[in-house]
Amino acid sequence: MREEAFAALRAGFSGELLRPGDDGYDRARRVWNGNVDRRPALVARCADVADVQRALGLAVDQGLVLSVRGGGHSAPGYGTNDGGLVLDLSSFKEVTVDPVARTARVGGGVLWRELDARTQAAGLATTGGTVSNTGVAGLTLGGGVGWLMGKHGLAVDNLLSAEVVTADGAVHHVDREREPDLFWALRGGCGNFGVVTSLEYRLHPVGEVLGGMVVHPLDRAAEVLRFYRDLCPTLPDEAEAYCGLLTDPQAGVPVIALLLGYNGAVEEGEEVLRPAREFGRPLVDMVAPMPYVARQSMLDEPNAVDGLHRYWRSAFTETLDDDLVDVVVDLAAGFTSPLSAVLFFYVHGAATRVPVEETAFAARRPQWDVDVIGQWTDGAESERHTDWLRASWARAEEHLQGSAYVNHIATDDAPEKVRASFGPNLDRLRRIKGQYDPTNLFRLNPNISPVAPQPRRPAD
Ligand code: FAD
Repeated sequence: MREEAFAALRAGFSGELLRPGDDGYDRARRVWNGNVDRRPALVARCADVADVQRALGLAVDQGLVLSVRGGGHSAPGYGTNDGGLVLDLSSFKEVTVDPVARTARVGGGVLWRELDARTQAAGLATTGGTVSNTGVAGLTLGGGVGWLMGKHGLAVDNLLSAEVVTADGAVHHVDREREPDLFWALRGGCGNFGVVTSLEYRLHPVGEVLGGMVVHPLDRAAEVLRFYRDLCPTLPDEAEAYCGLLTDPQAGVPVIALLLGYNGAVEEGEEVLRPAREFGRPLVDMVAPMPYVARQSMLDEPNAVDGLHRYWRSAFTETLDDDLVDVVVDLAAGFTSPLSAVLFFYVHGAATRVPVEETAFAARRPQWDVDVIGQWTDGAESERHTDWLRASWARAEEHLQGSAYVNHIATDDAPEKVRASFGPNLDRLRRIKGQYDPTNLFRLNPNISPVAPQPRRPAD
C-alpha cells in the first residue's frame, strides 16, 4: 500500500484506521479462531457506507487482498489476512425492530445475541445461529441454520431485503423486485457479491421455549446415535434435535448429548420430546422451559470464547449408517482435547421445503450437517490436535457426502467440494458473480469464480 494512498483514505475516513504498530492493532487483527494469526497491512473500522466505499476503493486501487469482517467468527478466519485490508463492520450495530410489521433492520456488524435481545424484547425472533457471538451477516449469507429452521426456514428464507456495496463502490438496495438476481445470490452465495451493510428480516412470535440436553455415557453412544438417526425424520417442524459427542466439563470424560428444542406450546413440546428424553438411562436430563435467548446461548461454552485454537471439518449426509456411528464413537473416545466435539445438526421441516432454485442455498433435502471440531487452549499444541482432526476426518469423510454446508467449508477442502456445495445453483451464481464482482475482489470466502457476462447478440 502506497503511503499517499493511505493518506488519501485517512483524509476522508470517519471510522478508525489501524496499522501495524498502532495502539489496538494487535487486537484488531485477531478473530474468534486463535489459531489464525495473521497481520493485515490495515484494519479499516468503517463508520458508515461512505467509509465502506472508500475502503473498497483503496483495496481495488492498491491491489490489496480483502477480508470483509462481520462477526469475525468464520472457522477458517476469513475475517483477517496477511498484508491486505480488513474491512471491519463491527461499528454497524443498527437494530430497528418494527413489532407491528414484524420485521427488523440489522446492521452488517451485528451479532446474534445483540439481535436476539432486541427482537425478544418484542416477543419476536428470526432463525439464527446457535452460538451467540456469531455474526448475523456472515451466517445469513451462507444460509443460516438454527433452532427455528424446522418451523420458520433458514435465515435466508426470512431475509426480506439488503443494502450491498459492490466492488465498484455502488450501493444497491435489493429484494425480490429490485435486482432480484443479486438478492437471490446473497441468499446462500456467502460473501462473494459485496459488503452487506444492512439486512432486513421477517420476525415470528417466539415466547418461552423448551430446550436443553439429555446426556448419556459414551459406552452407550452407539445405541443413542442409532436412536437419534431414527428419531430425526419423525420430528414435527416445531422440534429440533442436534446431537453432540463431547467431554463432560465436570466429569472430564467423553459423553453423548441429545440437544433438544421445541418451538411451540411447552406442554405440547413435553409430549413430542418425551421419547427422546425417556430413551435409555440418561446420566442427566436438562431439558426445561427457558427464555429463547437462553437456548440461543446454550452452546456458548466454550464455542463463543474468543481466541481458543480451532480446526474444523464438515460435510452433509442423508444417511447415518452403522459404520459412521462406530467411527464417530471411536473418535470421541480418542479426543486429544476436552474442548473438541463431533456435532450433528439435522436440517428439516420448512428449511427443506423451499425449492432448490428459489435461493442460492442449495442443500434443501432433510440431512445432517456433520462437524468434527478440534478446539484447544495452547497454541504450542496445535500440531497434535490438527493431526488428530485430519486423521479423524479421513475416517469419517468416507461415510459422508462430497458436499458441505457452505458456511462450514474449510480452506483445505477440495475445490470440487466447494463447487458441489453450491449444487445446481453454481452456474447461475458464477454468472451473477461475473456481473457484480468480475475481478473476484471478494475471494476470502467459499469462493465462486466469476464467469464473464455474455456479450449481447445484436437484435435480429
Ligand atoms: P466473519 O469471519 O466476519 O465472516 C465470514 C464470511 O462472511 C467472510 O467470508 C465474509 O466475507 C462474510 N461476511 C461477513 N459479514 C459480511 C458482511 N456484512 N457483508 C459481506 N460479507 C460478510 N452457522 C449457522 O448457520 N448456524 C449455526 O448455528 C452456526 N454456528 C456456528 C458456531 C460456531 C462456533 C462457528 C465458528 C460458526 C458457526 N456457524 C453457524 C457458521 C457461521 O455461520 C459462519 O462461520 C459465518 O461465516 C460467520 O459469520 P461472521 O460474520 O461471524 O464471520
